[in-house]
Amino acid sequence: MRRASILLSASSLLAAHTALAAPAPPADILLTNGTIRTLDHRDSTAQALAIRGGRIVWTGPDAAAPAHADAHTRTIDLKGHMVMPGLTDGHMHPLVGGQNLIGCSLDYLPLTADGFTARIRACAANPAYRTASGWLVVRNWFQEAMQPPGVRMTKAALDSIDSTRPIIVLSSFGHSLLANSAALKRAGITAATPNPTGGQVVHDASGQPTGILEDTALNLMLAVLPHPTAQENVAAAAASLAAMRAQGITGFLDAWALPEDLSSFTALQKQGKLTARAHFAPLIEPAQGKDIAGDIRRLTTIRARYDQGPLTPSPSVTVRNVKLFMDGVITAPSQTGLLLAPYLVDKGTKDHPDWQPGPSKGPAPYFPLDILSPLLKALVTAGFDPHMHADGDGAVRLALDAIAATRKALPANDFRPAIAHDEMVDPADMPRYRALDTIPVLSFQWEKQAPDTTEGVLPYIGPDRARYLEPAAQLEQAGARIAYGSDWPVDPLDEWFALKVGVTRTNAPAAGARYAHPLGTEPGLSRTSVMRAITMNANYELRSDTVAGSLEPGKFADLIILDRDIATIPAEQIAETRVLLTMVGGRIVYSTGTFSPPVR
Ligand SMILES: [Zn+2]
Repeated sequence: MRRASILLSASSLLAAHTALAAPAPPADILLTNGTIRTLDHRDSTAQALAIRGGRIVWTGPDAAAPAHADAHTRTIDLKGHMVMPGLTDGHMHPLVGGQNLIGCSLDYLPLTADGFTARIRACAANPAYRTASGWLVVRNWFQEAMQPPGVRMTKAALDSIDSTRPIIVLSSFGHSLLANSAALKRAGITAATPNPTGGQVVHDASGQPTGILEDTALNLMLAVLPHPTAQENVAAAAASLAAMRAQGITGFLDAWALPEDLSSFTALQKQGKLTARAHFAPLIEPAQGKDIAGDIRRLTTIRARYDQGPLTPSPSVTVRNVKLFMDGVITAPSQTGLLLAPYLVDKGTKDHPDWQPGPSKGPAPYFPLDILSPLLKALVTAGFDPHMHADGDGAVRLALDAIAATRKALPANDFRPAIAHDEMVDPADMPRYRALDTIPVLSFQWEKQAPDTTEGVLPYIGPDRARYLEPAAQLEQAGARIAYGSDWPVDPLDEWFALKVGVTRTNAPAAGARYAHPLGTEPGLSRTSVMRAITMNANYELRSDTVAGSLEPGKFADLIILDRDIATIPAEQIAETRVLLTMVGGRIVYSTGTFSPPVR
């Protein structure tokens, strides 16, 4: 009897609740018959999802879906396909990425010196790459993969193509460029040019510049490089967004936002063509770090001009993050990454290598701690989240030390610091990410054997430190909230290959037997972890986690339909994933295959 009355009261409660809640307003769009991986805190799966006003209003079983539709609802039969939140890329360089898609490119290929010269010669002869200024800008140079290893390119190669037309070749890593004599002359770079703070003008044995410029020395050239026109920049931004839509990217951080980045994506936003939530991090150069008041003034001016306030279903622009470089890259030949212990050098012979500590731990910190800590304090007080490039373990420690000082000085400030790259992290620093609520923004595609890792890093750090190279699993075990950032166009934009590498730590089969083994002995991350890194955690980094990053009622309808279920297929196949449909704020911005228009 007691039992029955409890049942009775439970069912009457249910009836009362239904009466209060019903009828739900009909959905604009209803997805049914799918495997919807919501990535909510319980990793729930649903079959159906309802969208109204650009937001998700319901998820649940197919059986309950009809209650959310009326004659005006557009129903999309998922035909069993997997749906997940749209990808949020927590660190990329989207305008340069777009420029690379439409300009002269070396396509990240491993090239011999002859192959390098031949490709640039072909670009120089191609009228499509003739600009009004006459300069030839060559992009996507995989400098670290030149063949055979150790080849160093100089201005002589470019001078042999054209000694009067300025030519520059930009390394895909973004930390160095090669210029010919004509370009060096335009920049006024001579034997007498000193190294700027945080950079290097490489000179040969006779003291002449070789044409290679590293890190902040790039500015000497970029200052005289004629700017693309506003129209060219908007075209590059549009090409960038098109590539993102096809990848399933619905949000990104521009991790080095120049004025033209902000203006070109904002121009597209005003035309209703912004198809991803665009977050921008203007840069503070090392030389600017001492003028804290000036930095804050400059940044708040940029924010006042471009930040569009709280997010809406329709994508908008934010300026909430600030980029700072702690160091360069640990990869040879640059070795501008800041390490705690010296890079090793080979004191042996070709047949009997003998790697011993050398003289260099990399450059001096680009920001010394006594400048960095007050700078961070001022930034977070002004409402900006620091996004700090730190590649070597020394740079990571520097960043964490400055964050610790800032947390201590401002215990009530809820800033969300991010450290990008984290390619080497000392074990003692791993728990500090969690303790300091600091987000490592990792580029999973680097966690593999490849020329830039196997030959470019491993010999120079030795086996002990190799255990902490690309330490995603250790960081996760230490409680860090890992976000993903592609760093595109450092690599081609391929988020699905990156997620695969995040799980397997292996290269693509096409890379060959030499690079077939996993990197290191640590396991990869779970599939759920890599999916969270590129959705929820990247949105946490960008303060959009309450409105995006998972598929839950109330959040924006930012979602993608995939051609396979990446939670169940063999991990290697994640790399071949194709996005069939991309939706941002309830608007379909990309579709193909089964869902090519019209999807109705
Ligand atoms: Zn970057």
